[in-house]
Amino acid sequence: MTDYSDIVIAGGGMVGASLALQLSAVLPAQVSICLVEGFPLPQPLAGGRPDYHPSFDARSTALSYSSRLIYEKIQVWDELQQWLCPIDSIHVSSRGRFGSSLLRAADYGWSSLGYVVENAWLGNALVQALYRQDRVEIISPSRVVAAQPQGPGMRLQLEGGKNPDLETALLVVADGVSSGLREQLGVTVHEKPYHQHALVANVAFAQAHRNCAYERFTDRGPVALLPLLASTPGEHRSSLVWTLAPQEAEHLQVCGESEFLEALQERFGYRLGKMLQVGERHCYPLALVQSNEQVRQGVVVMGNAAHALHPVAGQGFNLALRDIAGLAGVLAQGLAEGRPAGDLALLQRYLRRQQADQDRTIQFSDRLPGLFMQTDPVLGLARDLALSGLDILPSLKRQFVHQAAGVTAMAAGPGESSTGGAQ
Ligand SMILES: Cc1cc2nc3c(=O)[nH]c(=O)nc-3n(C[C@H](O)[C@H](O)[C@H](O)COP(=O)(O)OP(=O)(O)OC[C@H]3O[C@@H](n4cnc5c(N)ncnc54)[C@H](O)[C@@H]3O)c2cc1C
Repeated sequence: MTDYSDIVIAGGGMVGASLALQLSAVLPAQVSICLVEGFPLPQPLAGGRPDYHPSFDARSTALSYSSRLIYEKIQVWDELQQWLCPIDSIHVSSRGRFGSSLLRAADYGWSSLGYVVENAWLGNALVQALYRQDRVEIISPSRVVAAQPQGPGMRLQLEGGKNPDLETALLVVADGVSSGLREQLGVTVHEKPYHQHALVANVAFAQAHRNCAYERFTDRGPVALLPLLASTPGEHRSSLVWTLAPQEAEHLQVCGESEFLEALQERFGYRLGKMLQVGERHCYPLALVQSNEQVRQGVVVMGNAAHALHPVAGQGFNLALRDIAGLAGVLAQGLAEGRPAGDLALLQRYLRRQQADQDRTIQFSDRLPGLFMQTDPVLGLARDLALSGLDILPSLKRQFVHQAAGVTAMAAGPGESSTGGAQ
């Protein structure tokens, strides 16, 4: 027998799990929602760190104010708060250049510029929330291996679940940057490789970070250090995202700890004192990958499957969450008008609504690392002036901060009246 669900989300990573919760919060109870995840989802936590999961891995994520608003609405924020380190300021500098800028939440009347959470704890909060509600049917571990149009909806083939056949009015493709389903559906991508890897690790310092995030641009790529909560009393740790040439990244991933710390200290300097220790190191090849189609009759492509960005400005997941809120809003509206969930005109309405935010965010994270790696002296000077200009020109600084907080897509920033001043 073939099962049916109104909406099937293929991929229960950070985006698929967040979408399932968002849809269950805003769509009428009779709309059935199913989440299919290829990897076993972590079990609800009984003390200790959550089980490993490929989406909720060793990375940390900087959540913007726009993401906070979304998670507050779907009651994930309360659970998440205990794992969040607020970002009170961001120090932006360029190695060997004169420009630098300090962006402070207090200057905007905000209580923080963002929040850092380790992906494992973010995953834990999402999975706990999924297990708490009984609205979303979870099929895991199981993979959607084929999808084809059937009438106005889609017919899916699953591997590993109870039933190999599933029909749906709307398939959400959220299976990550190397999306097998996107390829299987014949959706092409535009790919711009950065010829760089992101080396990710947690680093312990002698001095406290005082909730300051650091973005240091060097001629060989940016170094970002995001403040983390201490895991043991008196510890000062930050999450490193170090963008490097592939060969150098691969070497630094496996070299001895002292060689690693020496190289990082030389590149970052002593703003947080001496570097004491580095945790597990992981490498991610970097590319801007954009799906050439995001909607079709009965199909929407979301998250990294739709757009995977350079991580330098911490924008990819925050953008995906705004897409999620946008899709849920449009679907709620369309279903109330009596349209089926997979209606192409409805999905196009969603895309029109998100397009400007997607374009602006993708451009911001694509241009930033390039600008700071400029060797051209004229452009280098422009960059240095831009950095000092951030301090000199309040409007430029404001624009930068608003984009980073994800509030250019919204009516006003945190603490400003139209978003309720929740901070
Ligand atoms: C180093 C680094 C740092 C980053 N930092 C930030 C940051 O600070 N802020 C920010 O906003 N963004 C950040 N990002 C971006 C963020 O990590 C991504 O936006 C996010 O991981 C996308 O999640 P996703 O669910 O779309 O994809 P994934 O995390 O790849 O999840 C896809 C899921 O689909 C499952 N799956 C795959 N195939 C199938 C199938 N056929 N059927 C069913 N399930 C399937 C997989 O098991 C997986 O769970 C960073 C990225 C990197 C690389």
